[in-house]
Amino acid sequence: MPSDCLFCRIVAGELQSSQVYSDDSVVAIRDIAPQAPTHVLLLSRKHIASVRELTEADGPIMGKIVSAAAEIAKHEGIVEDGYRLVVNVGRNGGQTVDHLHVHMLGGRPMTWPPG
Ligand code: AMP
Ligand code: ZN
Repeated sequence: MPSDCLFCRIVAGELQSSQVYSDDSVVAIRDIAPQAPTHVLLLSRKHIASVRELTEADGPIMGKIVSAAAEIAKHEGIVEDGYRLVVNVGRNGGQTVDHLHVHMLGGRPMTWPPG
């Protein structure tokens, strides 16, 4: 685990976070700067820099993240109205933390196209 990775440190419990879900592959926390009434970050437990770096050896991690999001959505009460899953990749994608994560945004209507 890269000791300077913010999300590795959160996954390891070294840094405080508001955790909403955890399993053997995924940890979900509330975003520190929420962009919607529900803004959850789904982190891979394993350090992977981004979806760009995913390999077959990483297995079904994205499927597990999306399944975890569906589970969390029930608890957040946003299943019926819907929500948005976002993956920012690299500089143009707006990625600021180089550890695989998916944003789950809900609780308000989202606009399209995104900024
Ligand atoms: P991204 O820009 O897609 O890489 O997303 C990184 C997200 O991490 C941003 O939405 C930040 O608000 C969020 N973030 C940064 N530091 C923390 C933290 N300590 N706890 C929770 N969320 C954080
Ligand atoms: Zn990491």
